[in-house]
Amino acid sequence: MSQRADLPAPADWTPTRREGLARLERFRPAMGGRYASSRNHDGGPSARGNVSTLSPWVRRRLVGEAELVAAAVADHGASAAEKFVQEVFWRSYWKGWLEMRPGVWRAYRDGLSADRAALGEDRRLARRVAEAEEGRTGLDCFDAWATELVETGYLHNHARMWFASIWIFTLRLPWRLGADFFLRHLIDGDPASNTLGWRWVAGLHTQGKAYVAQAWNIAKFTGGRFRPDPRDLAENAEPLPWDAPPPPLPLAPAPPLDPSAPTALLITEEDCLPETLGIEARGLALSRLRAAATLQITAARSDAAVGPLVEAFDRGALEDAARRAEAAGAPVVERLSAVAPEDLARWAARAGATQIVTAWVPVGPVRDWLEAARPALGDVRVAMVRRQWDDAVWPHATAGFFRVKKEIPALLRALT
Ligand SMILES: Cc1cc2nc3c(=O)[nH]c(=O)nc-3n(C[C@H](O)[C@H](O)[C@H](O)COP(=O)(O)OP(=O)(O)OC[C@H]3O[C@@H](n4cnc5c(N)ncnc54)[C@H](O)[C@@H]3O)c2cc1C
Repeated sequence: MSQRADLPAPADWTPTRREGLARLERFRPAMGGRYASSRNHDGGPSARGNVSTLSPWVRRRLVGEAELVAAAVADHGASAAEKFVQEVFWRSYWKGWLEMRPGVWRAYRDGLSADRAALGEDRRLARRVAEAEEGRTGLDCFDAWATELVETGYLHNHARMWFASIWIFTLRLPWRLGADFFLRHLIDGDPASNTLGWRWVAGLHTQGKAYVAQAWNIAKFTGGRFRPDPRDLAENAEPLPWDAPPPPLPLAPAPPLDPSAPTALLITEEDCLPETLGIEARGLALSRLRAAATLQITAARSDAAVGPLVEAFDRGALEDAARRAEAAGAPVVERLSAVAPEDLARWAARAGATQIVTAWVPVGPVRDWLEAARPALGDVRVAMVRRQWDDAVWPHATAGFFRVKKEIPALLRALT
């Protein structure tokens, strides 16, 4: 597909911490009342000033959640910054919720494989899915969002809700295939926010409550760019059949780090800020590491092809992390990309490492990959370090968002 003139060039997504912090600085004045009153408006790809578009950086921890909320509260006060702060906590809520229910992720992956197999046997369904992904359904707004997603790697939050709702209720396509389409093309594609965002729209997160897109709402919040005919949308759809999620499991404790073991540092797309991981505070200086490497496994997001913008952002973010780790005293960072688990084991063995230290890898494709690599790693243990932010917020994600929301004032005091 060719780049449309009204869409921002892919080069706008510079995958460095420096660019993420620069965006944060530019957006600071808008994090207060302006965000609260305008955030729901989707003015189109060339009018994104009402939202931060920081999610690709936050998703990889090139910019931390604490940095975002601290900036908002410092400039606007807790009350005016409340809405922005809450949205950041939604991200942590979804992460914690999925972390305590890994079965929901597994069920999504298994169901997705079954959905994909069904496509092989139902040519009409396969054609309808292809039309939806290629923006050829004939529904203007939906087709424009499909194109925008593939060509820019980003969609406004409201557009994500409308798109998912139309996919599920109007086009009646399997929700997991839609979630997979997002995960393959959103530069901020995140196993928790995305899977659970789709489940929330479908009515699978809160019993009896689905998000059903309305024509008036699309016309209002797109400033009239789109005016769908209400008769073309399933405006009165019912939630998908309820399937109660499992109760939360206790959060797995972070495996202890042995500072005396010969150790190699592994950096993944889940956390590209190795210099603030705090392993020094645990008695292990970066300069004492036997080896360091970045692991890029973007393709693990899906069995289908992942978009080039996602791949490029992952590659650049890991490159940026490698340079910062080296500058902070780590050994020369090896770049492991599209490798097999055995390659990871060989890398650790070459370095003489009996321990791999990495930032906590939450439930999702990278965790799945690491779990599958454990047999190849043999006696090499993996110590995952969980950040203070996650340790503090995730335990509250046992039920609905309200439990996290009521903790926000205390969490802000403790974490910023
Ligand atoms: C169906 C669906 C799928 C989604 N998939 C993803 C995904 O794969 N990755 C992802 O990061 N977000 C996802 N979201 C949440 C949300 O749409 C994006 O985080 C947000 O649009 C990112 O844009 P922004 O950085 O301009 O957000 P801003 O409005 O500027 O918000 C600031 C930050 O808060 C966080 N945030 C804001 N809104 C949400 C939210 N509703 N849920 C979770 N975190 C939020 C993000 O980290 C964001 O960068 C999804 C939402 C839906 C409805």
